[in-house]
Amino acid sequence: MLRIGVDLGGTNIAAGLVDEEYRILDRASVKTNVPRPAESIIADIARLVKLLCERNNVGGGELEVVGVGVPGTINEDTGYVEYSNNIRFENVPFIKLLGDMVDVPVRFGNDANVAALGEYLAGGHNVKSFVMITIGTGIGSGIILDGKLIKGINFAASELGHTVIKMGGEQCTCGRKGCFEAYASATALIRDTRRVLSKSDNEAAHSAIWQLCGGDPEKVEAKQVFDAVKLDDKLAKELFLNYTEYLAEGIANIINILQPELICIGGGVSKAGELLLLPVREKVAGKIFSKNSARNTKIELARLDNDAGIIGAAML
Ligand SMILES: [Zn+2]
Repeated sequence: MLRIGVDLGGTNIAAGLVDEEYRILDRASVKTNVPRPAESIIADIARLVKLLCERNNVGGGELEVVGVGVPGTINEDTGYVEYSNNIRFENVPFIKLLGDMVDVPVRFGNDANVAALGEYLAGGHNVKSFVMITIGTGIGSGIILDGKLIKGINFAASELGHTVIKMGGEQCTCGRKGCFEAYASATALIRDTRRVLSKSDNEAAHSAIWQLCGGDPEKVEAKQVFDAVKLDDKLAKELFLNYTEYLAEGIANIINILQPELICIGGGVSKAGELLLLPVREKVAGKIFSKNSARNTKIELARLDNDAGIIGAAML
């Protein structure tokens, strides 16, 4: 049997035809183009489903399910997307609308949970307990224990990015202050870098970051900080040290609660690779409660990149 997985993002709607071995046989995408009515976005998902079926001669009965990863809060009991800031959905009867258009069973899940499921199933990690954190604009996360996604009573569980690591700290998008996300997302690193560059003192002006962003703090990207670290830039190394400390605080909290076999780091920031992982592993090892245990949680990079969202959605 074949399945179609859809990664509904704020920028693109990406769909893939997935087989039982988690391979993406074909893919298609369109721009999300928000804001526009939910019905119009859902109609585009249905068009992608039809296109993939036609192009691959998938007839009636051969397609088992269409799964969609949605960036927001979903309710599996009602079939509604309750809220999504990214795609501007509010109380949308998603399962009914898409189900009527595609005539195949439709499932949906939170995008971070879905990406975790995809990475867990198809990333070749071979573990039973698994946490994925996706670090980009925010911090998304998904928890899988004994092969099951942890969803909570209201499908809003595993928001690890919104656990506080510094009470009264930086303002977070969720309304609280001092969240893990407000310190360890790419957005947080960029904010901290801009603050330092805006001091316009001698050190900032001579920093490699200053050159990489063309002398405009508004154009700073997380990657530039990592690139400047590789150039042995003093300011970048200070920012990086600080950033990895926050990241390690959040990861140590996750380990202390769940003790999973593996924590995978994905998202744009994970492209820094071992440069990031080496100091984070070292700092985490010193912070966890189980530091004297013979066996501890491994911290690795995610392997599937954006495909995790498509594969995970297909496998819902
Ligand atoms: Zn928060």
